[in-house]
Amino acid sequence: MLNLCNASPMPSGKATSPAKRPDWIRRGSLNAPMSIRKHVNSTVLCTQTSQARLPPRAAAAVGTADDASSSSNNNSFSKPSVTSRAAATSAAFATLGFCVLSDEVPLMRLLVLTYAVWSIGEWIIHRYFMHARAGSFGDRLTPLNKLHVEHHKDKNMTLREDNDINALYFHYPNTAIQVLSGAAILAALDAIFLLDIPFEWTLGSSVLFAITHNLLWNTMHMDMHEVHEDLQDGLPCVSYQRSHPLIQKYVQWVFDNHTTHHDVGGGWNYNVVCPGPDFILGTYMERSQKVKL
Ligand SMILES: [Zn+2]
Ligand SMILES: [Zn+2]
Ligand SMILES: [Zn+2]
Repeated sequence: MLNLCNASPMPSGKATSPAKRPDWIRRGSLNAPMSIRKHVNSTVLCTQTSQARLPPRAAAAVGTADDASSSSNNNSFSKPSVTSRAAATSAAFATLGFCVLSDEVPLMRLLVLTYAVWSIGEWIIHRYFMHARAGSFGDRLTPLNKLHVEHHKDKNMTLREDNDINALYFHYPNTAIQVLSGAAILAALDAIFLLDIPFEWTLGSSVLFAITHNLLWNTMHMDMHEVHEDLQDGLPCVSYQRSHPLIQKYVQWVFDNHTTHHDVGGGWNYNVVCPGPDFILGTYMERSQKVKL
């Protein structure tokens, strides 16, 4: 059985003694080494904060990477500053507080709350289910992590021939589960905070967000990994233009954020299409060089 915690690291670089299993392995990350394969050619770790928690081999690779072929690409990874994290956290809590307290704009309140549920849900599912450690709750509940381990085996955004396409998108049953659990969570919040949101609205909002989220995820996750196939059992990939002026900023963020998730071994950037929770919960890693769209 595949084991997320003990997935074997790349057979290269300096050997790490098993006794000193680094943090990123315990956290369920996969491939240690960082290299930017497709879009960026070389990688340099620069900040102390990121170096402290990033794969050791990645740090060791600085200056020695074979991928350092292009001198124009000196990408580095860093965590956002404490100040910007504090600002984002305050803004998020202020918005949520407004939602709970204000009776004036019930629809706005519902949409903000639904976004919060979906973005935190995405973060939790990716972190605790897809990257579930062996024996953990998420590991016992679903096989999502088995698929996802395979997905992360490729240290490249361009997947290997034998990649399982099922790891790339949400299937219809997953979409349905999201509608039901999202509506249940919203209904619970409604009851706890006495929000007086009619249940039909809650359900409608959940349907809207599940469909939008899954369409975005399926479309963009497949596209980022350069897999273009028709899905029989999931919401379809929509064709879109990556650099269309209306969406380019968002597309760029999604590509940068998720390429980094793969580059650093899966232990950061759990959000894929819903920005926010990573930043607030301290799992956000930025890259200095944008990914080429
Ligand atoms: Zn991916
Ligand atoms: Zn493509
Ligand atoms: Zn992942």
